[in-house]
Amino acid sequence: MTERYDLAVIGGGIHGAGVAQAAAAHGYSVLVLEQTALAAGTSSRSSKLIHGGLRYLESGHFKLVRECLQERALLLTLAPDLVRMRSFYLPLYRHTRRSPWQIRIGLSLYTLLAGLAKDTLFRSVPRREWEGLDGLNTDDLRAVYCYPDAQTDDAALTHAVMRSALSLGARLEAPARIQQAECGDDGVTLHYHDSQPRQCQVRVLVNAAGPWANDVLRRVRPSPPHCTVDLVQGTHILVPGQLRRGIYYLEAPRDRRAVFVMPWRDATLVGTTETVYRGDPAQVRPLPAEIDYLWETLAHYFPQHRQDERQLLDSFAGLRVLPARPGAPFSRSRETILLPDREHRPRVLTIYGGKLTAYRATAAAVMTRLLPSLPDRTPIADTRSLPLHPA
Ligand SMILES: Cc1cc2nc3c(=O)[nH]c(=O)nc-3n(C[C@H](O)[C@H](O)[C@H](O)COP(=O)(O)OP(=O)(O)OC[C@H]3O[C@@H](n4cnc5c(N)ncnc54)[C@H](O)[C@@H]3O)c2cc1C
Repeated sequence: MTERYDLAVIGGGIHGAGVAQAAAAHGYSVLVLEQTALAAGTSSRSSKLIHGGLRYLESGHFKLVRECLQERALLLTLAPDLVRMRSFYLPLYRHTRRSPWQIRIGLSLYTLLAGLAKDTLFRSVPRREWEGLDGLNTDDLRAVYCYPDAQTDDAALTHAVMRSALSLGARLEAPARIQQAECGDDGVTLHYHDSQPRQCQVRVLVNAAGPWANDVLRRVRPSPPHCTVDLVQGTHILVPGQLRRGIYYLEAPRDRRAVFVMPWRDATLVGTTETVYRGDPAQVRPLPAEIDYLWETLAHYFPQHRQDERQLLDSFAGLRVLPARPGAPFSRSRETILLPDREHRPRVLTIYGGKLTAYRATAAAVMTRLLPSLPDRTPIADTRSLPLHPA
């Protein structure tokens, strides 16, 4: 007998886990298919920040920043063991692209969008404290600002959200790969492969395959609309050395892009880069030129690393999914795109892009788009109040 579910979700990254949790909380039956392992894709290769994205204010993405800051506040209460506030240090040198007054305006707006609570306030770090900033280069330093934002373990968060979904009745198959999907009048017939070929019937299919989203759409008949996207790789390096004060938000000396230097599991994580990637998403790897760029940035700001042998503890690359457009990836929109196969009662919905931080809000928006295609069910929980625990 063919198995039936209200929803099938393709992808066990943060978005797949988030949609599974939201759908199960609504009372729907959910099957999640993940081709390798939970969080094996982008959701274990991010910068691991739960943040509003200070730099998105410059491009006028106020709504995105506000939503992310609201989600940050919620995650701090739902997942206090997984999401923690950190002090972020923003040093301004004589050659920094932005002036102290621009930064003050940006940080004031950021604080305002975060709700002006006591734990969202920023400050200027007095000169007498600069020596204590983990060996930060003070040549030509004009000012240092300190503001609060949050850090997580992206893979652990994804696992926690999926555990929450499973506890509400969702089912996960991994490894299991979608082979083909046929849309009919009353839903989608899904062919997938775990240890053997299988088939099931679902009312709606959520494509949360991240960088593989268009690959999944190529398997759907009739062919749904798709977005033309660029995959933009972001590399991080993990190097020895501990930062005691917090996270540093720096400008790469070579091209003035934002680079974070962060404490991570008794070592220091530095990222990220932006390199347009063409090829199989599963094969993305850090490039030697990216590793050089990150070392150069680290050594510029933390001169103690100039003398160190370049000991690399680890490096990893993840893929951003950004709307295809000419010009530098840095300036492209980071808004999440939800693309249905049809406006009225969609059968397939694809998630393009998005932020780890906003996964819950994205999942809620996905459910709102899909409700007309689903029967009425009695909700059994609300994701705004479901605690998330580490394993
Ligand atoms: C370098 C970098 C840094 C980032 N830093 C941050 C940050 O600090 N803060 C923040 O909020 N956001 C950040 N982001 C964004 C965030 O990480 C991503 O938006 C998020 O992880 C995307 O999750 P996802 O579930 O859409 O995709 P993924 O995590 O890639 O999951 C997709 C899953 O689908 C599976 N899949 C693919 N094809 C199939 C198939 N045919 N059948 C079954 N399964 C399939 C894959 O195996 C994969 O596990 C960053 C992104 C990048 C690239």
